Amino acid sequence: MKDILQRFLFENADIRGDLVHLDATWQAVLDKHDYPEPVRKLLGEMMVASVLLSATLKFKGRMTIQIQGDGPISLMVVECTSERTLRGLAHAAEDLPDGDLGTLVGPGRLAITLEPDDGPERYQSIVELTGDTLSEVLENYLDISEQLDTRLWLAVDNQRAAGLLIQKLPVAKPRSDTDAWNRISKLSSTIRDEELLNLSALEIIHRLYHEEGVRVFEAEAVCFRCSCDRERVGNMLRTLGLEEVRSIIRDEGSVRVACEFCNHKYEFDVIDTEQLFAAELPPDVPTTRH
Ligand SMILES: [Zn+2]
Repeated sequence: MKDILQRFLFENADIRGDLVHLDATWQAVLDKHDYPEPVRKLLGEMMVASVLLSATLKFKGRMTIQIQGDGPISLMVVECTSERTLRGLAHAAEDLPDGDLGTLVGPGRLAITLEPDDGPERYQSIVELTGDTLSEVLENYLDISEQLDTRLWLAVDNQRAAGLLIQKLPVAKPRSDTDAWNRISKLSSTIRDEELLNLSALEIIHRLYHEEGVRVFEAEAVCFRCSCDRERVGNMLRTLGLEEVRSIIRDEGSVRVACEFCNHKYEFDVIDTEQLFAAELPPDVPTTRH
């Protein structure tokens, strides 16, 4: 099965739906870090959720979902772009207890950031974590910050990650089918994890909603891609200051930085770093690549 986002619409109700299936994309994240089981589950759910939530973004750019807490999992970050590329990482203690999101992350915050490529506007919304599962946390977030009735189902194993979302569309004039949301929520709730993980999007839509009028859009490909590059790492080094960087070079011979998302290693030797600081360019102007 491929890595896809499948959008659909209930034609006789003001409700949209999305299905996401991740295979190679999820494997790419697991290949780069040896995460313990509870971290895998939450991170996989977050990867899927980020595609589900960004499915209707109207701008070119990226959405970042970040969870920070005081518990054994201190940080999870997933980024999804309008090109449907994904990357994600987690910071966690070595020994993790079994438990729900509250136990693993502890008291914490959920931040969702929208960054359009063109234009300086960056929108961030932060809420306290409320809910025992990531689905509940995100449903509460969407209710509070967007006033959108949304339901999510997320499933993860060591090969795949998948999810289903249904959401009420904001409409000026509701239709006469006032029971549609309850009915479609109930139908969706019958989905089982193994169905989400093993069936194709079209099979799931048929199985759940064959008595509803559903319009299915063209499936979109999703893949893992990291947006790190040497220029950004160079800009990060510049913020450390020349003296700090020179002192690292004196001790280590060069500055080595690994991207946390994709493990790509960047190395700056004495000539690279002197050139970096000699350039005196503002951070957003490209520097010479080596
Ligand atoms: Zn990277």
